[in-house]
Amino acid sequence: MKTRKLLGLAVAALLSLNAMASPEMTYTPQATTFKVTTLGTARGVTLRLYDQGLGGKATKTLKMTSRPIARTQGGELEWSVTVKGDLKGKFYTFSVQEGKKSLGETPGIWATAVGVNGQRAAVLDLADTNPAGWDTDRRPAIDAKDLVLYELHHRDFSIDPSSGLQHKGKYLALTEPRAIAHLQALGVNAVHILPSFDYASVDETRLDVPQYNWGYDPVNYNVPEGGYSTDPYKPDVRIREFKQMVQALHRAGIKVILDVVYNHTFNIDGSNFQRTMPDYFFRRNADGTYSNGSGCGNETASERELMRQFMIESVKYWVDEYHIDGFRFDLMGVHDIATMNAIRQALPDDVFIYGEGWSAGGCALPNDQLGMKANIGRMAGIAAFSDDIRDALRGPWDGDDKAAFLGRVTGNEESIKFGIAGGVQHPQVDISKVNYSQHHWATQPTQLISYVSCHDDMCLVDRLRASIPGITEDELIRLDLLAQTAVFTSQGVPFMLSGEEMLRTKLGVHNSYNSPDSINHLDWGNLERYPQVMAYYSKLIALRKHHPAFHLGDADLVRRHLEFLPGGDCLVAFRLKNHAGGDRWGDIVVALNANKQPRTITVPDGRWTVVCRNIAIDENGLGTVDGGQVTVPAQSAVIIVK
Ligand code: CA
Repeated sequence: MKTRKLLGLAVAALLSLNAMASPEMTYTPQATTFKVTTLGTARGVTLRLYDQGLGGKATKTLKMTSRPIARTQGGELEWSVTVKGDLKGKFYTFSVQEGKKSLGETPGIWATAVGVNGQRAAVLDLADTNPAGWDTDRRPAIDAKDLVLYELHHRDFSIDPSSGLQHKGKYLALTEPRAIAHLQALGVNAVHILPSFDYASVDETRLDVPQYNWGYDPVNYNVPEGGYSTDPYKPDVRIREFKQMVQALHRAGIKVILDVVYNHTFNIDGSNFQRTMPDYFFRRNADGTYSNGSGCGNETASERELMRQFMIESVKYWVDEYHIDGFRFDLMGVHDIATMNAIRQALPDDVFIYGEGWSAGGCALPNDQLGMKANIGRMAGIAAFSDDIRDALRGPWDGDDKAAFLGRVTGNEESIKFGIAGGVQHPQVDISKVNYSQHHWATQPTQLISYVSCHDDMCLVDRLRASIPGITEDELIRLDLLAQTAVFTSQGVPFMLSGEEMLRTKLGVHNSYNSPDSINHLDWGNLERYPQVMAYYSKLIALRKHHPAFHLGDADLVRRHLEFLPGGDCLVAFRLKNHAGGDRWGDIVVALNANKQPRTITVPDGRWTVVCRNIAIDENGLGTVDGGQVTVPAQSAVIIVK
């Protein structure tokens, strides 16, 4: 753990974060102190105490008293009140008055426990939420270069009866032996869960009715979502169950990565930010309108002192309290570079950070200050998704029916090579022929997330069907496995969407953020219907994990050991030579052929062992070939070693 860096800031109460969990509420059995920070213009703050998280009248209404915060730039005020007696189990809200107007009740920006639907914060002792054995829970030690990321939505994963899981759509599903066994059989070592902080779009009072949302609409950033708990009314339950999930995955050697969405809130007026410090946390355009770089109606202002501090303290809180192993920043391109670097500095080195290096609209901050993919070179220790290799494989983002390499569209080979090299400068990658990037944006290969599909857009099967008219099932499977072979033999950090190993389909739905279970669910029955798919995925991942040559983790090593071989139209081949990364194999050749006919490549002389051919993988060998001309069967990959 690095020393806490407060960046010369604000909010003295944050100092008590580790001990007390929330800078806005400090509980002891004798008394509870409430604190909230407002703009200097606030005229008053009222604290209301309730017996329930929703409904009923306040049992107490108290005026808070203010004092200026000496160290903030903006003349903010800190309001506080201490209530005697044991308040455990009670709920509370703040109401800030600006001028004659109350901004409305809010649980504050720093609630760490809430009632149903996150409308009121809860008084509890976080120590009561720790499952047995939590004090010995540790983040698994896995280097960034060794990670294999698996992106999962709780409901997708477990809701279908075919999953055989008991806790359908819940955190606890990931504690069940069948779930853990599947992840271990597949070989992934980090589960990246879609938004699991408290979000707005699922009504937690109606969980008996099927509801679905990805959850990109934050309400309370520092509380787990209630919809994935077995009882959203009880504030401790979602916290304990979330920890049980983390604990079970950690015991299985699997990291837990949170998808965090600090770039926007569900709405402006109802947001806890706006009800606490109006217009402080959101960027505006020159004409006074709210900027919308998130595409969701607003964008937060990470460059402002208290927003930056909020983001830093929030991720630290998830690491400290929930033992989180990494963060995936939604629309990282909305955040400023300085904030992302401050977050990197504030977190332990082994906490992995990556994000979407783009925004969903113009931001009210210049591009060269934003956490864009092109600026990753100025963000050491932070990675970005490579849409370069993704779209070179499956086709461009702006049309589901457009094909690329997999659909035998030539001209994508260099972009695939760019991804294979982990986005770092490489003498054989001609950047002028790469689809989106004008420079080798990764300084280290661990700064590039290599993937072909994620929750956004069509899943791989649907994209192949949409972009390759008349595709047969055999071709579909061959191309699916070919695509993932590119991903999992690349020097970047590999990432896959959950269910691809089950040949998942979303029935052609491009944006399934609120689609029903019938679209989003994983069909576990496909594991039996298409056993060759799961077998290939798991052996491919094992091959990567067993062989350091595929994940060198260092740009100089990549330049020294990775050599591209002459390829051709829709044919990319490369060699990992001279025991790359200390690999026991002296030489590895990978060839990716998307053509409908076999192709040949030229490899150095000698006797080679085939470990991948015709959608079969066996590290012990599927046979041998002699050097010189080697055949690569249609629409598949060959890997030979010696
Ligand atoms: Ca919620």
